[in-house]
Amino acid sequence: MRELSYRMLEMKASSVRKLTKYAEEAEAKGKKIYRLNIGQPDLHVPQEYYERIRAFDEPTVEYMPSNGIPELLEAVEKYYKGAGIDIDKKHIYITTGGTEAVMFTLLALTNPGDEFVLFEPYYSNYNTFFTITGATPVAVTTYAENGFHIDRESLEAKITDKTKAIFITNPGNPTGTVLTKEEVRMVADVAKKYDLYIISDEVYREMVFDGREITSFGFLEDIHDRLVLVDSVSKRFNACGARIGAVISKNQEIMDLISKLCQGRLAVSTLEQQGAVGLYSTGYRVIHQIRDEFEKRRNVVFENLKKIPGVFCEKPEGAFYMICKLPVEDAGEFLKWMLLEFDDNGETVMAAPGDGFYATEGLGRDEIRIAYVLETDKLARALQILAKGLEVYNNKIK
Ligand SMILES: *Cc1c(COP(=O)(O)O)cnc(C)c1O
Repeated sequence: MRELSYRMLEMKASSVRKLTKYAEEAEAKGKKIYRLNIGQPDLHVPQEYYERIRAFDEPTVEYMPSNGIPELLEAVEKYYKGAGIDIDKKHIYITTGGTEAVMFTLLALTNPGDEFVLFEPYYSNYNTFFTITGATPVAVTTYAENGFHIDRESLEAKITDKTKAIFITNPGNPTGTVLTKEEVRMVADVAKKYDLYIISDEVYREMVFDGREITSFGFLEDIHDRLVLVDSVSKRFNACGARIGAVISKNQEIMDLISKLCQGRLAVSTLEQQGAVGLYSTGYRVIHQIRDEFEKRRNVVFENLKKIPGVFCEKPEGAFYMICKLPVEDAGEFLKWMLLEFDDNGETVMAAPGDGFYATEGLGRDEIRIAYVLETDKLARALQILAKGLEVYNNKIK
């Protein structure tokens, strides 16, 4: 047979899903698994979403305009203005999730061989789009020891004459780090100095804890010409399956290129866009409910992790993830062992191996990502199991 695409053959399988077959094996044997591996929130989707979809009463499900239905563009504009970010409908294109927004942005900004700088550990699902677009991600390593915060020197050190953009996720997945105002300003200044674009994935924008202020790049008017925002209803309204996102920029040239891609894929789902109008109509009622719930869960996870000997992590500041260091050499092997060989009263825990979130080979091997997407009592139990597992595992190895 003729050879298949080398781009796809070289693409790495998702690290989050690598353990799935062991989980299935464990479940087949009747083990109960607390899943902390996947970033899929479990909270209810607001009723307004379903009501809006039920109210749809057209005889045909037509293609909608490729940039999005007018009611949703208005809703997103209103949300942005309410957030203090001066964005107009014409700067917004609705996409099939934030994921499509990332892909379209990279296609519009980069040629194969171009570089863009990002901070590792980063959301590993991006790798799919990096491979497709052919631009090279250049990673600045950040560290658990200072809560994965960033600094100017290590950012500037990675910039070359091939660099096109700085790619940021704020608040961060998998780190749970919320950039400070100063860090956001610093990135903006570096982008101006080297004439770079900024792609800012802010799908967790409001999920910031302990009374922190939101730090969006959208607040900095002086970089609006070089900024592309990636947005989504998935996390803001707990509606991952709706597949509604947005790509936002005040740079008309960029939007014109992205428009070609939007037209090529014709349109985004007609009904889901209606549902998203319902989601935005709930405003900060739902957004703050979700934030408060995850802050509670963060507290439970962090308090319990602190008690486990040899585990290290800084207190996460936002989103619903964290990276923590375990007292093991190979966290992937440990997680596999937890699924296949260990149980506490028939129960065990699954998390994501940390190394999959790094571009640099060898980093993150003693780390795991925890997505705290379970109710607080289940989280407490899951961490109790993790603590017991670590104790047994380390005694066995000695
Ligand atoms: C979940 C997630 C997305 C996008 O999700 P969609 O469901 O495609 O909107 C984008 N970036 C990060 C960092 C995420 O965690």
